[in-house]
Amino acid sequence: MADEPPKIPPVRESRGEAVTVMRHDIPGELSRLPELAYNLWWTWSPEAQELFRRLDPGLWESTDHNPIRLLAQTDRLRAAASDPGFAALYERVMRDFGAYLEGGERPFREDGSRDPVAYFSMEFGLHESLPIYSGGLGVLAGDHLKSASDLGVPLVGVGVLYAQGYFRQRLNAEGRQEEAYESFEPGLRPLRLVRNGAGEEIRVSVELPGRELRLKVWEVRVGRVRLLLLDADIPENREEDRRLTARLYGGGERVRLAQELILGVGGVRALRAAGLHPDVYHMNEGHAAFLGLERIRELVAGGRSFEEARELVAESSVFTTHTPVPAGHDRFSPELFWEFMGGWPRALGTDREGLWNLGHREEEWGPTFNMTVLALRLSRARNAVSELHGEVTRGMWGNLFSGNGSTITHITNGVHTWSWLAGELGELFDEYAGPAWRERVEDPAVWEFVREIPAGELWRVHLKLKERMLRFVEERLRAQRERAGLPPLPAFDPEALTLGFARRFATYKRATLILSDIERLKRIVHGPGRPVQFVFAGKAHPADEPGKEFIRALYRASEEEGLAGRFVILEDYDMNIARHLVQGSDVWLNNPRRPLEASGTSGQKAALNGAPNFSVLDGWWCEAYDGENGWAIGEERKYASPEEQDAADADSLYRTLEEEIVPLYYRREGSGVPEGWVAVMKRAVKTVAPAFSTQRMVREYAERLYFPRAGTSPGRSRREG
Ligand SMILES: *Cc1c(COP(=O)(O)O)cnc(C)c1O
Repeated sequence: MADEPPKIPPVRESRGEAVTVMRHDIPGELSRLPELAYNLWWTWSPEAQELFRRLDPGLWESTDHNPIRLLAQTDRLRAAASDPGFAALYERVMRDFGAYLEGGERPFREDGSRDPVAYFSMEFGLHESLPIYSGGLGVLAGDHLKSASDLGVPLVGVGVLYAQGYFRQRLNAEGRQEEAYESFEPGLRPLRLVRNGAGEEIRVSVELPGRELRLKVWEVRVGRVRLLLLDADIPENREEDRRLTARLYGGGERVRLAQELILGVGGVRALRAAGLHPDVYHMNEGHAAFLGLERIRELVAGGRSFEEARELVAESSVFTTHTPVPAGHDRFSPELFWEFMGGWPRALGTDREGLWNLGHREEEWGPTFNMTVLALRLSRARNAVSELHGEVTRGMWGNLFSGNGSTITHITNGVHTWSWLAGELGELFDEYAGPAWRERVEDPAVWEFVREIPAGELWRVHLKLKERMLRFVEERLRAQRERAGLPPLPAFDPEALTLGFARRFATYKRATLILSDIERLKRIVHGPGRPVQFVFAGKAHPADEPGKEFIRALYRASEEEGLAGRFVILEDYDMNIARHLVQGSDVWLNNPRRPLEASGTSGQKAALNGAPNFSVLDGWWCEAYDGENGWAIGEERKYASPEEQDAADADSLYRTLEEEIVPLYYRREGSGVPEGWVAVMKRAVKTVAPAFSTQRMVREYAERLYFPRAGTSPGRSRREG
């Protein structure tokens, strides 16, 4: 198993013409730096990040904050080893890291006595330096692993390594989104190949039409949790098969079906090859549902009937659905399905009808095999990701369970506090909170301390974070415009009320709602003595033309007289940009078309940092909004048509901005501190931070869905297949 001390590989610049090879021997005084770099614990330790940054600030920025590349390329190691300040920081970080790994007080102590929970997801957003995520679903999965580690929940993640990741977004001079894919060198990421007891790299295979696909298995350490990632890019496979795992959401439906077999079937086989027999299997979205078929196959090979096996698998499976948009669920035509799955009925001890019925759904155009239906049928614990989404989901799928009393519950999404809270705010909280707040962030009582923070202090820290965000945005915009051949924009006004909006540009999120009445928007932006500015960012899926059109519309607005310089759109949204925006914005804007936002999480990150939400009462916000911790857009009601809904929401958006948000922001007391505003900030932190943390969320999964099923799986005691 991959626990030999990591060696930093030589650098091969695959993109440059010249291949430069540099290798550093890490000085003895800093010998544990590679171990730190290979465990993503550093991504939620401000001091560990500071350690890497101090080593080589320029490289730290230019490598997307990738410490493996940093260690491979820097020539500052010797100097750092003899710098007493650096050495002291190193000692402190390594002590904290060691203490974290050892244990300490944790609600669910991972003591090896329990089999783990396997958590399967098509994407994981852990850090910008490991680009195997596209948006909120992936970030949620990453935050889930991090909190499982913090809490001591025994858990192993399973996903796919995409060598070209998700695309990088460029905006050209017309605001058109261009997609660039860059291959990354796995040796320069925090990845190690998983080996078996004999020290050999493990390999698993998955049957594809007419051939076997071979997969190698990487491991990422996330604190005390491991994430296994499957990778088809090996010489044993045909050339086109090697590219099956090249891109996240990057192919047609054949590639999608193959990727889902890789994740579900290959994932279970990878666990076995690594010696793992989890007790509970969690499917994060329908993409992972083939894992249930592979588990049935194992049980049938071990002597069970198809029906018995199906029950056992369902009993030990958890399924989370995230998609209230009907078209968002993966489904395959019978032709495509049977081309790939022809051999499966036999292996499952059933016939074609038996397998087909597990996922069958009738669409207007005919029968399909639907991955959400499969996941719902092969799990007993099923959940949506907010209360409202629970209602919507039961409306969509409830008819599947008529009679047997099964249903779909909800566990509202959250965010990993330590990955999203600005370090400076964490330090401020340390001064006013009781000593245990860092262990019990999910406990609302712990956050009472926020009341005690003097308004001026919270405001000062916020202004500092805002300034850093604005500088970051200016710097990125300068580079972006330079590349597009455009002149630089005037500097931002650090005093102006600043709203952030960043997420995937799926059309239901209505990124252009703010442009419904451009003249009204211009008046708001140039309010006399009360300026307002907006920062937008987000990627549209490469096949989503309407989403790309939204980007173009925002871009055109950003060039328009009366908005230019006060209304900007930043390219290449990722977790790094997200972190800056949620930590530095004054207000976080979100205006999806209700009820299509299953939960949403970016607003939770913002509120944690004291940026109140200004949002449609959809997803998580309709649970969190209490009238004093932010603002609502529109009403909790249904409309006759989307157009009517858009018009009503747009009007509400402008009006609330004009009549409530702008006046409150600019109401200053003698001290210059906006006391009324800071009260809303505090209320936002206090109400959102505990309830919408993944610490609360993962606890709920563990207590309500995982642990009651533990022991129901024929796992460790019976080695099937
Ligand atoms: C948090 C996050 C998201 C989710 O944003 P929503 O507004 O909830 O859709 C998407 N992308 C990135 C990079 C994030 O960090």
